[in-house]
Amino acid sequence: MSTTSTLFSNVELANGTKTNIGVTGEKITYIGSDTSGYKSIIDCTGLIALAGFVDLHTHLREPGFEQSETILTGSKAAAMGGFTCVHPMANTNPVADNSAVVEQVHALGLSAGFVQVQPIGAVTAKLEGKNLADLGKMNASSANVTVFSDDGKCVSDSLVMRRALEYVKAFGGVIAQHAQDPLLTVNAQMNESALSLKLGLTGWPSVAEEAIIARDVLLTEEVGSRLHICHVSTKGSVDVIRWAKSRGINVTAEVTPHHLILTEDLVASYNPLYKVNPPLRSKEDVKALRQAVADGTIDIIATDHAPHTADSKDCEWGEAAFGMVGLETAAAIVKTTLVDTGLIDWQRFEEVMSLNPSKISGLSDQGQSLEVGSFANIVLLDPSTSYEVSAVSQSKSTNNPYLGMTLSGTVRHTMFKGVLTVKDSSIQELGK
Ligand SMILES: [Zn+2]
Repeated sequence: MSTTSTLFSNVELANGTKTNIGVTGEKITYIGSDTSGYKSIIDCTGLIALAGFVDLHTHLREPGFEQSETILTGSKAAAMGGFTCVHPMANTNPVADNSAVVEQVHALGLSAGFVQVQPIGAVTAKLEGKNLADLGKMNASSANVTVFSDDGKCVSDSLVMRRALEYVKAFGGVIAQHAQDPLLTVNAQMNESALSLKLGLTGWPSVAEEAIIARDVLLTEEVGSRLHICHVSTKGSVDVIRWAKSRGINVTAEVTPHHLILTEDLVASYNPLYKVNPPLRSKEDVKALRQAVADGTIDIIATDHAPHTADSKDCEWGEAAFGMVGLETAAAIVKTTLVDTGLIDWQRFEEVMSLNPSKISGLSDQGQSLEVGSFANIVLLDPSTSYEVSAVSQSKSTNNPYLGMTLSGTVRHTMFKGVLTVKDSSIQELGK
């Protein structure tokens, strides 16, 4: 990997300090007023410098669904979004339920080189919800898996969930639950509400999510293990998590950018771009989710980037796949919904986009504050320029619900371990 000696000049850090950041090799080696002695100087006047973003919930679709995304294309989309690490979910084909597949995914990430690709392992074999996967072997593999999830499916069997929590406790792992009671959501298509009745679409009740979270925080308390809740989408879920945290239960939670900005009203168009799991909810839910990020009940933002081919979205609502892309727009949406509204500052933004997800995953070289000695994982964000979201993307898929929307907050540069992966909002050739 090529190394650089680069100075980001006139940056503003999350705490408001204006300074210069010097990078030599893979590390930040200088912060201060001296600007001499660098091979290249990048003028960052007006830009905010933050720790490179870490996504705890990404679908890269490889192996098995390379027509939607590959580890290379997804890595490039991530870098364009300011990410320096992504955690691809296990619902590939074959499923990432053994050390061979997680090592393959990890190795493909290293060879792509745009971000750290830190695989998530399946909780159960083939995501069938019955027998535990080789959790210990995946942890001991070269991919060093610490986060396990059957995402896309819920671990709905209480006994299996309890055993999984017990198993990962031994090595400090965490179970990331896709909270969806399968019996309450048979053929569910959208949020259960007056609108679902009106549109004639099968409703997806909030309690299908909330009941699983309530059960799982209690199991986690009983076992003394660690739980993470994927894509929280309802006000009631926030209440349960807040209660669990107040009891000292070791639970963390994520929200997606789309659940912070989009509501169920969009479904009235029957446009499958708005079909997602969990479904878009009500305005009251969106408000509660935003507040929960601000007050610390929700720990992180995770994209749930879910690329799908045009075929699987260009059809009737009932036939369409669940999911939307989100890596490239995440930072702008979080800025729009939480920073511009005064709910959070840039320090909290850096926590929820980088520092906290890295902690949950237990990464040693991501999510570090920008200080001398930290790995040079850096994103430079322009908070003032707006842009119209277009279908031009590094992702292979264009199932983007924000097409045509104007967003503010542009990722200008991304550096991954001392290598510029994005410069002037353009993906770089890594020369390898
Ligand atoms: Zn999910």
